[in-house]
Amino acid sequence: MNALNDVSPQSLRTRITKHLTYTLGKDKSHASLYDWRMAVSYSVRDIVIEPWFAATRKTYEAQGKRVYYLSLEFLIGRILGDAMTSLGLFDTVREILDDEGISLWDVIEDEPDAALGNGGLGRLAACFLESMSTLACPAYGYGIRYEHGLFRQKFENGSQVELPEDWLNQPNPWEFERPESRYTIPFKGHVEQADGKSVWYAAETVYARAYDMPVVGWQGKWANTLRLWGAHPTEMFDLERFNSGDYTAAAAPEALARTLSRVLYPEDTTESGKELRLKQEYFLTSAALQDILRRFLSEYDDLSLLPDKVAIQMNDTHPALAGPELIRLLMDVHGLAWEDAKRIALGCLNYTNHTLLPEALETWSTWLMGRVLPRHMQIIERIDAEHQSETNCAPDLAIVQHDHVHMGTLAFVMASHVNGVSALHTDLMKETVFAGLNGVYPSRIINQTNGVTPRRWVRLSNPALSKVLTDTIGAGWESDLDRLADLAAHEEDHDVRDAIGAAKRHNKVALSNWVGEKMGMSLNPDAMFDVQIKRIHEYKRQLMNVFETIARWSAIRANPQGDWTPRVKIFGGKAAPGYFVAKDIIHFINDVAKTINNDPVTADLLQVVYPANYNVSMAQRLIPATDLSEQISTAGKEASGTGNMKFTMNGALTIGTLDGANVEIREHVGAENFFLFGMTAAQVQDRYQVTDHARQAILASQPLQDILQMIAEGRFSPTDKGRYLPLVDAMWNHDPFLVASDFDSYLACQAQVDRAYTDADQWNRLALRNIAGSGFFSSDRTIKGYMADIWDTKSLA
Ligand SMILES: *Cc1c(COP(=O)(O)O)cnc(C)c1O
Repeated sequence: MNALNDVSPQSLRTRITKHLTYTLGKDKSHASLYDWRMAVSYSVRDIVIEPWFAATRKTYEAQGKRVYYLSLEFLIGRILGDAMTSLGLFDTVREILDDEGISLWDVIEDEPDAALGNGGLGRLAACFLESMSTLACPAYGYGIRYEHGLFRQKFENGSQVELPEDWLNQPNPWEFERPESRYTIPFKGHVEQADGKSVWYAAETVYARAYDMPVVGWQGKWANTLRLWGAHPTEMFDLERFNSGDYTAAAAPEALARTLSRVLYPEDTTESGKELRLKQEYFLTSAALQDILRRFLSEYDDLSLLPDKVAIQMNDTHPALAGPELIRLLMDVHGLAWEDAKRIALGCLNYTNHTLLPEALETWSTWLMGRVLPRHMQIIERIDAEHQSETNCAPDLAIVQHDHVHMGTLAFVMASHVNGVSALHTDLMKETVFAGLNGVYPSRIINQTNGVTPRRWVRLSNPALSKVLTDTIGAGWESDLDRLADLAAHEEDHDVRDAIGAAKRHNKVALSNWVGEKMGMSLNPDAMFDVQIKRIHEYKRQLMNVFETIARWSAIRANPQGDWTPRVKIFGGKAAPGYFVAKDIIHFINDVAKTINNDPVTADLLQVVYPANYNVSMAQRLIPATDLSEQISTAGKEASGTGNMKFTMNGALTIGTLDGANVEIREHVGAENFFLFGMTAAQVQDRYQVTDHARQAILASQPLQDILQMIAEGRFSPTDKGRYLPLVDAMWNHDPFLVASDFDSYLACQAQVDRAYTDADQWNRLALRNIAGSGFFSSDRTIKGYMADIWDTKSLA
């Protein structure tokens, strides 16, 4: 079973040379970095094949239950480094490449990020896949093979500009195209009744073709499959139209097919109302369910066994058509009765909710749904009618309301379990968005607090800290992260505290070098690295952090000889292209950075850095080098956060609100090792009742008044002094995420952080406690929770 038994350095060396010669067709003397990367990737991939096949064999032999994780997003990032880490081949490959005069890190960084996601939701799906493989939980991830992932961000005069991401311009060495695994996906047309059955005559069809990527777990003991669907035209349909002379229509399926898997919707919370998005959601869902049923029927012939052998997880509402689609396939294709089909579907399906923001809960007009998916509209109406009659619920709990299909309600009604992603978020789900449904379907809502994989987020991204951990608590923490608690026993060991500090400094120097090369800035690695990286969103309150930066700058200028703690403020993140307020925030951060970085008075004490195009690889670079993690969202708005967990594992201290998983992080690391500020979720609710909350808070805060005054005077936009007047106006009059109301509390907390940082040894102690308390936030723990509480599935290790 263990793939690593027969991987000697010599055999790997031979493999790489062979791939270079026979797969790439290159002689060593002419091989480019790309050629080397491909040869190494193919060689490492070869080694994954054995456990991958073995996992499939074992699942068939054991007649194991499989998990199917449906997600419109998989933010997997680069694969080579992760695969080498899992297989324990890092040092071997480095030595082989060293002998050829090639740098392993150059090879790793030649790989484009697979950016098939926007942010936390997509990255969670990627961590889950890796944990399911590590835990030998038989599973498939199902997603879309977007030709263009999330856009590439650059800054022009400080403003975000979006460029297309073309990760598939080069061949993807990690995927296997499966032309034989192909399903027809119908759209539009009409439904007829015949012999008591419904027949959907589709007006458009596309093929979904499978592209498989193996996902190998820790130590190469198991590998699952990420199956991404690419859209291809159904040629037969073309010809018919073409022969009848309707050339434009003949070309339409081709255009439709290409469009379907072309772009990832670059929205992380609000949904675009585009028909294309609905089609993408159905495309993924239908292809996945047809594939699931085919695999099931290759092993069993009794469809009533489906819930015993299949667990389907809907990651957010994007695949919520899984309910009606599974019913449709069971009835219209496999001839089951309505009651049986619905019971089986409900037995298989589960739904993860990711947000309480009302604008982010998907709805589709019945007009659009009925036009694109006429059969599903019928099924949804029947599900809705039964839901209302069986529960006697209030009209505002209906699936269809005011001619709109509420996808959250549909997903909820058609799921065995509905889970939130942190304890606080789950409580708020029960009290707010799903209060009514929780009343009529009690105990359906459960919690599974998110996690992240320590293989990528510590072992791969932070070799320096990993070595300290292994030296201190022994090997094996990577797959048993609770063992980090053993660090606590070493708290009094000066050498261990020093080693943790030295690892951090090493990473800060590396980051400084990268920033130097990339942005031409020279950072002080002894300054506190204060980092906020995440999607730019008003509720995440990047503005509050910039305001604090301005306050700090002014204070230093007023007293340059004061006892200041030097800081480097680092920002990272993209804004959705249509989210204009977020784009203004980006412009503002860049303008503030430019002003502050050009001030010789404060140069040694404050720098502001905003590298463009935040993605998984940049996160892997920044997080290990962070001293202070900014998790400052308006309480009640961030469902969980996972960035917060990555930082904690890497020994950053958090300044944060009681929001999302921050609450649990603080419990696990100890309240005295966490910088807490701001209102609670309940206080936030009360605050919203004060109609002029922003004005009151600003009038009560001299620092905030001064900051807003500077911005209004055009201090950060001297060539366009009025640029941020709308921002200032919005602060005084709207401030929907309560930046003003929490600002003084934040400022005071940041002063506490400054004081704490001056005692380096004590800071290292706090960092050690944060690492020691972070074991709970491994996605292995999360997946074990899903396996036990939701999927009822077993590890086949
Ligand atoms: C972890 C991660 C996120 C999620 O960050 P939050 O701070 O939880 O919003 C987003 N993007 C990338 C690239 C990540 O790695």
